[in-house]
Amino acid sequence: MQLTIEGLRKEYGEVTAIRTLDLEIASGEFLAIVGPSGCGKTTLLRLLGGFERPTAGRITADGEVIDDAAYTRPIETRNWGMVFQSFALWPLLTVREHVEFPLEMRGVSAQERTRRADEVMATLGIAPLAERYPAALSGGQKQRVALARAIVAKPRVLLMDEPLSALDAELKLSMREEIKQVHRLTGATVIYVTHDQEEAMAMADRLLVMKDGAAEQIDTPERIYHRPATCFAATFVGKYTLVEGRWEGERFVPKPAPSLCWQGDVAPALQAQGVYPVRPDQWEWADEGIAGRVLYRQYLGCEYSYRVAVGDEIWTVRAADGPAEGAAVCLRYRG
Ligand code: ATP
Repeated sequence: MQLTIEGLRKEYGEVTAIRTLDLEIASGEFLAIVGPSGCGKTTLLRLLGGFERPTAGRITADGEVIDDAAYTRPIETRNWGMVFQSFALWPLLTVREHVEFPLEMRGVSAQERTRRADEVMATLGIAPLAERYPAALSGGQKQRVALARAIVAKPRVLLMDEPLSALDAELKLSMREEIKQVHRLTGATVIYVTHDQEEAMAMADRLLVMKDGAAEQIDTPERIYHRPATCFAATFVGKYTLVEGRWEGERFVPKPAPSLCWQGDVAPALQAQGVYPVRPDQWEWADEGIAGRVLYRQYLGCEYSYRVAVGDEIWTVRAADGPAEGAAVCLRYRG
């Protein structure tokens, strides 16, 4: 299902949760919404789901207006799936009853309900748990049940609000694959809210980076990672350091080392701010360059993460190996 958002705005009294938003989401696309706490991610998802009414603007699904300030198409007629951070399972229903519930609501026959629930539970590896209650399930199993319930009625849109945030790191990685698999199998348009930019990049076709209720950048993960359009997108998604300096046409002279000169494809908004974005992996240790001192170093397995004091700032550097904490260093930008 193709979705179009036009001039969307949402106010809660004095608070403006969505300032203004325009966005096209293609049918079958996996769109992740990322941004810091309070930027409006959940509000946008709730507007899309029909749980909130916009203050202004409208949302269109396959050409039909489903939400505007005057009208909301009832949620039960939309056939959209929803997965929440808290799983939102009912303690008194078994796994099977959860999965069959959306079908029951749609008046599907008992025999057909059993068949479709069995199919979805098998896909998600929860068939052996069919008769259990939520209290007897692990976090990962609960999230699978929530996913099964969301997809059993073959929704055309799947809204997910931080579905993995309650899970531990290893489980998160395997659930990422399961959700991608569900996306492939259902062909649903997925809108996935997360504050974890790595998770968003790993899963989505496109990212919507939000800040203060508005879009900072909407693009593929690769484009946002390699060529952020704004200072915020650079620091939030790619963890860039914004090196201060002076742009002279195509050339950049960094303030901490004015004898150097860098060139690169840097977005106009960053040039206008007089900064050059450098990712942690784009630095290397050198004999000459920008002088700093190592504050901390963390071993990450295949490399180290360093926090390096440069003037009044602290930059992050990722490198295979290098100096100990306290050492004076020189950093070279290797592009
Ligand atoms: P988080 O990552 O912390 O969940 P978020 O990006 O999802 O944050 P929202 O929950 O959409 O942010 O909130 C956006 C803004 O709207 C915040 O300032 C929030 O306090 C405010 N807000 C959200 N819901 C309501 C409400 N029902 N009444 C008043 N203000 C609200």
